[in-house]
Amino acid sequence: NINTKEDVLKAIESNNVKFIRLQFTDIQGVVKDVEIPVTQIEKALSVGISFDGSSIEGFVRINESDMVLKPDASSFAVLPWNQKKGVVARMICDIHLPDGTPFVGDPRYALKKVIKEAEEMGFSLNVGPELEFFLFEKQDGKATTIPHDFGRYFEFAPADLAEDIRRDIVLTLMDLGFDIEASHHEVAFGQHEIDFKYGDALTTADNVTTFKYVTRTIAKLNGLHATFMPKPIFGENGSGMHVNLSLSKNGENIFYDADGDMQISDEARYFIGGLLKHVKAITAISNPLVNSYKRLVPGYEAPVYIAWSGANRSSLIRIPAARGKGTRVELRSPDPSCNPYITFAAVLAAGLDGIRNKIDPGDNREENIFELSDKGLKDFGIETLPSTLNDSAKYLAEDELLIEALGTHVINSVLSLAKAEWDSYRIQVHPWEIERYLNTV
Ligand code: GLU
Ligand code: MG
Ligand code: MG
Repeated sequence: NINTKEDVLKAIESNNVKFIRLQFTDIQGVVKDVEIPVTQIEKALSVGISFDGSSIEGFVRINESDMVLKPDASSFAVLPWNQKKGVVARMICDIHLPDGTPFVGDPRYALKKVIKEAEEMGFSLNVGPELEFFLFEKQDGKATTIPHDFGRYFEFAPADLAEDIRRDIVLTLMDLGFDIEASHHEVAFGQHEIDFKYGDALTTADNVTTFKYVTRTIAKLNGLHATFMPKPIFGENGSGMHVNLSLSKNGENIFYDADGDMQISDEARYFIGGLLKHVKAITAISNPLVNSYKRLVPGYEAPVYIAWSGANRSSLIRIPAARGKGTRVELRSPDPSCNPYITFAAVLAAGLDGIRNKIDPGDNREENIFELSDKGLKDFGIETLPSTLNDSAKYLAEDELLIEALGTHVINSVLSLAKAEWDSYRIQVHPWEIERYLNTV
């Protein structure tokens, strides 16, 4: 276990590490990376490494751009793939200002802030994400949307290379310390899922970042393109990142109650109540692309309706069958294009609001919600998730609780990015429009 500066120096020595990649994410969750030779590690660990924050999406303006990367010792890991010019390790960093204070626009800081709030209530959040992704062919060095294989859910084809590549990704993740639970082909051609063990929210957000980085790298080494784009192909399932959530207090899962209705506790119910209350605003964070909303449509196992249920997969929030230690709430709306730090922060803040204010989630729905008529939806008071990025951004702009919890810097960055994305999209003339109107109007 690596936790201190001394541990890092020892690990560098024993693994003969030559370079360290210092990593962090911008507001969109894109991994940024600067490589330093080991000669700089002393400095990195004591004072940090300076960089220009104005070039990073969602950080700062040019006139106040000096920022400092502070590597987190516990994130030290040797990158397992072949390195021709010497061993490379990576470390995940916090962002500080030159005066040593944490930068409030850092997504990792926003998550730490909400985690601290939970700790003050005696809780720690466990998160288990399920990332789905596509492997596509490349042509002339460029990514296409041609699926690499033609398998379906849980299928395996003996002639199919995807299995080997998936295993290659799994083995690499295991080398990096991941506890892999399962990996399988998903519903769409070329679509896969790899599940790893849940952990505390910060570690898991770091892991999501690493997962994406590793998956892309291994795909590339195999001549393929991996994408976490939420809906790359019309008419096929998109890629989600379901998040399984539970709270523990003194090491006990407090969502489980052997005597409770459905064997879940009041805290679990209130947590769900908080999620339901804030989910429209959360969507701007958990589904941050124009394309995210093309996934959230009926018919593709992605959620549309704001409801909760037992094991029912047609619902936004469900309680998977496991009880006892494994009792958890699964939120199905997030997609893997989101920034995991601020997504977990928003989800946790909403759940805590539910517990604090005893927010009643209403009745659970066990029917197939996709089959309910408009009247049925209305009678049950079931609302829908925002259908565009523009809509979800409006909800986020008005959600005082999330603004307070994540900080105005982070929320303003999310909102201005959403606006830029939306504005760029809405002025385009899409092929769909040409096909539809050119000859008929
Ligand atoms: N791919 C589906 C989604 O967009 C989820 C399928 C599943 O239940 O694993 O969320
Ligand atoms: Mg899945
Ligand atoms: Mg799931």
